[in-house]
Amino acid sequence: MYVWVNQELVERDRANVDLEDRGYQFGDGVYEVIRMYHGNFFMLQEHLDRLQYSLNEVGIPFNVKEHQVENKLKEIMKKNYIRDGAVYLQITRGAAPRNHGFPEHPEPVFTAYPLPVTRPHQEQLNGIRMTLVEDLRWLRCDIKSLNLLWNVIAKQKAKERGCFETLFYRNENHVTEGSSSNFFGVKNGVLITHPANSFILNGITRQAVLNICKEKQIPCEEKVMSLNDLKELDEAFITSTTAEVLPVKAIDDIRIGDGSVGPITRRIQKLFFERT
Ligand code: PMP
Repeated sequence: MYVWVNQELVERDRANVDLEDRGYQFGDGVYEVIRMYHGNFFMLQEHLDRLQYSLNEVGIPFNVKEHQVENKLKEIMKKNYIRDGAVYLQITRGAAPRNHGFPEHPEPVFTAYPLPVTRPHQEQLNGIRMTLVEDLRWLRCDIKSLNLLWNVIAKQKAKERGCFETLFYRNENHVTEGSSSNFFGVKNGVLITHPANSFILNGITRQAVLNICKEKQIPCEEKVMSLNDLKELDEAFITSTTAEVLPVKAIDDIRIGDGSVGPITRRIQKLFFERT
């Protein structure tokens, strides 16, 4: 497999990053995962915009356009003969003698390589179980940063509890999102999802679903749900680049609706699928 390391396309086992790369030592960097369907990246511009936003927010001096990231991503997929899958890319503040403060002359390090992705057919069809975990992440979840420690721990808790995904809550009145997905509820025909602010990552798949709602005039509200609200939901689903739209049939011992996949979730799935 070929991978990008800065300006070079190299074979994976020849790719080197420095021991003192700040991404490795501090999680000082940002990333994206972008899906490719039939040789086309899905919502590429939205991903590149979010990448530039994350870079700006953490002050990594890297211009996505000037570095021709779009061309590099297309090239890496071509070079590896991949038409259906995803690309992972990250940009760190680069290597410097270990010191918390920014280096005076940072040289950001760009790496990218293809990720194999297969649709989670079974879960898309039958739905998943989620488990509640307190959201102990920092308060800038809108930045797609490499600091994923609580997300990682939370996903492991889900695994250990026999669930596909975690649902985070800050307190009993504030459900946020999944450990690697956004959460949608459906009540009386209205979709409900957390507003795009610093408590969640504004997922690209989330944006796609909101666009679908606008186009098809499916009512949708961006508002915060409480733990009690979860008990009243008729339907629920999560969204992410790799999972797409996954119905949720239970959250711990809360059964969603009658425990089967509801009609609105099916409709959103179908409309999303048509876009890919
Ligand atoms: N929230 C978090 C915390 C995530 O890690 C992800 C996936 N990276 C998402 C939401 C979904 O975002 P997207 O639809 O862009 O994959």
